[in-house]
Amino acid sequence: MTDDTRRDTWWNTCWKGGKAGDPAMKGGSTYEKLVARFSVPLATVQVYLSRKPRLQLWTQGHFVQAVGEEHGRPMSCLALFPEQFEVLEHTPNHDDDDIRIFRGAPGVGKSIILILRGSYWMRKHRRTVFVLQTSDDGTAAAYLVRHQLSKTVGQGAGSVQLVNMAGVRDEGRWTKGGKKKVQAWVEELCQHAQTEGRVHILADEANGDVITMIYKALKQRHITVSLWAAGVLLELPADMERYVHHLTQPLRSPPSVVREVEQADDMKGGKVPAYTAPPVAPPSDGPPVMRVDHLYSWRGDTQGHEGFSPWECERCGQLVADLLTTLRVGCHDHAPHGQGGLTFNDVFVLGGMKCDTDTTDDDLYSPAPFIRGLESRGVPTRKVARHDTAAVRQLAEMTSAPTGEERAAGRGRDEAVTVAHEDTVWGLERPVVVYLEDGSAGLYDADQTGRLRSMSRSTAQVIWVKDVFT
Ligand SMILES: [Zn+2]
Repeated sequence: MTDDTRRDTWWNTCWKGGKAGDPAMKGGSTYEKLVARFSVPLATVQVYLSRKPRLQLWTQGHFVQAVGEEHGRPMSCLALFPEQFEVLEHTPNHDDDDIRIFRGAPGVGKSIILILRGSYWMRKHRRTVFVLQTSDDGTAAAYLVRHQLSKTVGQGAGSVQLVNMAGVRDEGRWTKGGKKKVQAWVEELCQHAQTEGRVHILADEANGDVITMIYKALKQRHITVSLWAAGVLLELPADMERYVHHLTQPLRSPPSVVREVEQADDMKGGKVPAYTAPPVAPPSDGPPVMRVDHLYSWRGDTQGHEGFSPWECERCGQLVADLLTTLRVGCHDHAPHGQGGLTFNDVFVLGGMKCDTDTTDDDLYSPAPFIRGLESRGVPTRKVARHDTAAVRQLAEMTSAPTGEERAAGRGRDEAVTVAHEDTVWGLERPVVVYLEDGSAGLYDADQTGRLRSMSRSTAQVIWVKDVFT
């Protein structure tokens, strides 16, 4: 079928002379249209594989596939939609600024776009890329972006540096010394620009005021800037809005999870841009959300449940442990194609509970009854406190199975379910997310934060431990 005319004739004959034909096939090259139609997804990119793909709950097989190792590094092959590719195709003129700010719901590909653009800068221009952390909530995301960049580009490219600006803003205000810290860094960037010409900055889960100040200060000094930033709730001054680009097509979570996330107050109220349907149908709806009811009552039988919230309930911990067993988590059996099963590292337990090792609140429940319930059924746990940056970093850089490198360094051996406050894990994802609702205080219920902050981390299965008052 190398002859265009013969192919067109063949196709038209198939469609009864084109009269009853498929309108989408009319005009242009039949060959190109056929290739486009049967080659979904349209294009792929390769990045360092941060999580080992799993098959048991692998509802996103279209999106993430292991493609073996490249130079000894496990690489992941991601399929992007045209929405993401159009953004990446844009390259500025030599002397122009390159400012892109992405706003979008969780799991629409914001971080992956930053990582791809950063690796482009490092490979093509062999430049230093600054990964800017602008708040405590952005710790995990910053570590993840830096880790992915350094692992994706490999040797011989530019370098990547993490810059921590957490704490310069608090509750909408500059903190004491906050502005000075930013100004001092801008001075460093100016020095840097003298040798490299242009500064390259990535900021995931970014604070709009911090990136605006940095950008404007650099402009005053006539420095050319490449600044790509992203966030779910990214607020900016009016004159920066022109740089905003909305991403809306879900890449991370299957439809069963997306439907839960989009019922969050911030999404229904329009504060976070709504999801739109991707250009290709998802391969499956995803596993239905599993539910554990925490029964709470002033009177009557609570069937072994105790305490105001699931966090204070050992029975809830046991029931969740049983569900993890039905999902074969930690069973060390083998799925088809030689893939191992889900490990305890593939599970997040999230919610609004204080998960700080050093708060008095938590000492009351040490360990919390919920954790006691998990452990009593043989589920090992790892509590990650919000301000324990070493632990958050390890979480961001952790693969579900230890790599050779990690084994050599003695890391990655301990398998455990991660228990954390939902703000600790912004930017990260796991196949299984257990969400602990706390309706008793009225502060941390699902619609206000849980759907957006906890459930959205799931690439496959959500287990919702729900407060039920009887
Ligand atoms: Zn309970």
